[in-house]
Amino acid sequence: MIAAQVKRPGGPAAIEIVETPDPVPGQGELLVSVSVAGVNYVDTYYRSGLYLRQPPFGLGTEGVGTVVVGAGEFQVGDRVAWCEAPNSYAELVTVPADRAVRVPAGLTDELAVGALLQGMTAHCLVDSTFPVAGGDVVLVHAAAGGVGLLLTQLASARGARVIGTVSTDEKAALAREAGAAEVIRYDRPGSLAAEVLALTEGEGVHVVYDGVGATTFDLSLASLRRRGTLVLFGTASGPVPPVDPQRLRLGGSLYLTRPTLYDHIVTRAELEHHAEAVFDAVTAGELKIRVGHEYPLAQARQAHEDLQGRRTTGKLLLRI
Ligand code: NDP
Repeated sequence: MIAAQVKRPGGPAAIEIVETPDPVPGQGELLVSVSVAGVNYVDTYYRSGLYLRQPPFGLGTEGVGTVVVGAGEFQVGDRVAWCEAPNSYAELVTVPADRAVRVPAGLTDELAVGALLQGMTAHCLVDSTFPVAGGDVVLVHAAAGGVGLLLTQLASARGARVIGTVSTDEKAALAREAGAAEVIRYDRPGSLAAEVLALTEGEGVHVVYDGVGATTFDLSLASLRRRGTLVLFGTASGPVPPVDPQRLRLGGSLYLTRPTLYDHIVTRAELEHHAEAVFDAVTAGELKIRVGHEYPLAQARQAHEDLQGRRTTGKLLLRI
């Protein structure tokens, strides 16, 4: 089969398209013919070596496809989606049956991949990490990104006032369309925190959802109101250096958390709960998935360049 592989971690050029033996499913695993693989920021962390895997390794963790060898509750021909199967940028992948979810008939492959990993992440962040309530003021960084557009929609649907940050006018328009009441161009000179304080009568926001990391972390802390919560859920601009807990006291008894999706979908019941919530919302038209960019598998390198070059909006897909 054809797959995208990394032999030596590095920049996007580290991605090679190779011919490799078909994977063989183990006990309790499905073999799936992949239709569409999801590109997620975490794939760049593995590719670059920020997150460690033993090379050579295949990229990707997310996709939709058709079962060719069944296991557990799944039969040959079933359409399934997953977000925790390494080597998903490939024609075939093995997926533990208890980590696969059925794709509802009303959802296309593209919408299912657009919804699963990023949608469940956004759902956990607004539902569990910091349960957003009506009247909350919420700051969402990279609000036109994959997770950002979904967070913006989910938080505004709960009655929150969302302030989004973006780097272009096109992204600002998308964030507004998703429900952001205000949008700040954080690429321009000026203090983001001062702008947030000006928009909130000097109070600051109840919660910041920060998937950008290195370049935004300090400004995120400074944008919080007393007892506000900083949800650091990613590091698109680079990792955040160690933090002195005294900064939380000085900022006004602040809370800091660094959640991952995977701690929220540990059991089968948790995975099904979050996947169903997201798939149902998409099917009902309550949550809009924007597939911003599609690439053939052979252009996986380009997909990573565009994602890290801040040239993308919404979800990126690889068509296998
Ligand atoms: P996005 O589509 O949001 O792409 C990243 C965006 O970050 C860019 O489009 C850009 O938006 C912004 N950005 C700001 N500074 C930089 C920079 N220096 N380099 C690159 N991008 C920058 O990606 P995803 O939706 O896939 O992921 C968003 C974040 O969520 C990532 O940090 C990811 O790791 C995290 N994540 C965490 C999960 C978890 O379980 N904790 C699960 C899923 C995702 P702009 O141009 O507007 O600044």
